[in-house]
Amino acid sequence: MEARLPSEADAVVVGTGAFGLSVTAQLARLGYRRVVALDRFAVGSQTSPRAAGLFKSVQADELRTRLARMAIETVCTFERDTGVTVPFVASGSLMIARTARHAAVIDEEVEAARRWGVEVDTISPAEAVRLAPYLSAGAIVRAASVPGDIYIEEPVSLLEAYRQAAERFGASVFGQVPVTKVIVSRGAVTGVETPLGTIRTETVVDAAGAWVRAVARTAGADLPIVPLRHQLAISHPLAGVAPEQPIVRIFDAAVYVRPCRGGLMWGGFEVEPLPLDPAAMGEGFSIDRVPLDFRVLEGFAAAVRDTVAVLHGAAVQEHRGGLFTMTPDGRFVVGPVPGVRGLWVLSGCNGSGFSFSPALGRVLAEWIVTGRPSIDVGPLTLARFVRAFAEEELRAAAIHQYTHYYEPVEETSERG
Ligand SMILES: Cc1cc2nc3c(=O)[nH]c(=O)nc-3n(C[C@H](O)[C@H](O)[C@H](O)COP(=O)(O)OP(=O)(O)OC[C@H]3O[C@@H](n4cnc5c(N)ncnc54)[C@H](O)[C@@H]3O)c2cc1C
Repeated sequence: MEARLPSEADAVVVGTGAFGLSVTAQLARLGYRRVVALDRFAVGSQTSPRAAGLFKSVQADELRTRLARMAIETVCTFERDTGVTVPFVASGSLMIARTARHAAVIDEEVEAARRWGVEVDTISPAEAVRLAPYLSAGAIVRAASVPGDIYIEEPVSLLEAYRQAAERFGASVFGQVPVTKVIVSRGAVTGVETPLGTIRTETVVDAAGAWVRAVARTAGADLPIVPLRHQLAISHPLAGVAPEQPIVRIFDAAVYVRPCRGGLMWGGFEVEPLPLDPAAMGEGFSIDRVPLDFRVLEGFAAAVRDTVAVLHGAAVQEHRGGLFTMTPDGRFVVGPVPGVRGLWVLSGCNGSGFSFSPALGRVLAEWIVTGRPSIDVGPLTLARFVRAFAEEELRAAAIHQYTHYYEPVEETSERG
């Protein structure tokens, strides 16, 4: 059925991934009456449904820890607050290190996370194996347990829940409607153009994932964001694996593992991630065309062979991938776009956009509707970038952040 677009809206959200659908649902929930979300492809069909679905409450700083906890809380109370069920698994997670250097990273993170209110305990290698029997204790130098972490088995279920909640609160969600231009007049947003017509609005949220920069450019703005490929695999069912076993993150190999569909899902952060700008790949390019390389997953399985032996040579039921939106400092980009009144952005996922979407969608919607978010996300706004980046520098910084996912890079005083 052809979409019948409204000609006017209180807010238009560009993109219906985890970020776009979350902020759409929250804007409508907070009382915005005509919220319209548009996607150039099918609703919720690009990077978000390909995520691993992991939530992680131990974060590199207090702000992200608060947001991560808010995100888990939002998922756990989603049904109460919206009437829509989100299936999640209260699995907890384990942090594992097999070198002294990475043990020190875990020790620091445990200490800081406790200070910021996260329940996390150092445990013995034997206890780690008791909790996740697919592990071998031998090489483990340090293990810590985070009982409050969760995962969502099929990430598409969170997207469907957001969409249902958004529509219940009165928002309209359309697939196959690309936004071709954000219309700006005298420094302020006045609408969006699509092939099906123009929608007049004073508020646009750019949540276009790997296309976020291309959408901002139509409004004359630029964003320091680089899309990089990330992949995972899911094995066929394996004896002894059960859904409630914890997520495992092996810091020294930058690999994560969790139960999935009776087998194990695994993925990780390679040292040479593939940059890929979909806006440069032509109109028809979609995430299912991101080239995948199973050798990367084989490399991860080999790197953790002493600890998760079953991955090595495991028969695989799914291999999938998508694009992270990386920023030069590894932090999200949330809030107003300077110089274009009424244009907001929600991006810079840095590999954690799925799990932060419940919180960031909520906080951004509060900001738009009430003028003040309930958590001050000032450090995550574009205002932190005090100068423009040269393309090469931007790409190098983004790759650096990707390859240090489990070892956050020291803060530098000068930001691009
Ligand atoms: C393999 C893999 C595993 C991951 N695992 C995790 C994890 O465990 N936990 C976690 O937190 N994160 C994870 N991530 C990251 C997470 O998937 C992303 O951070 C998140 O999905 C980003 O959501 P998004 O809404 O920005 O992007 P998307 O889901 O890609 O949505 C953006 C949407 O914008 C649309 N769009 C683009 N241009 C336009 C336009 N002009 N007009 C209209 N619509 C447009 C696109 O079609 C798309 O649907 C993983 C990612 C990958 C690839």
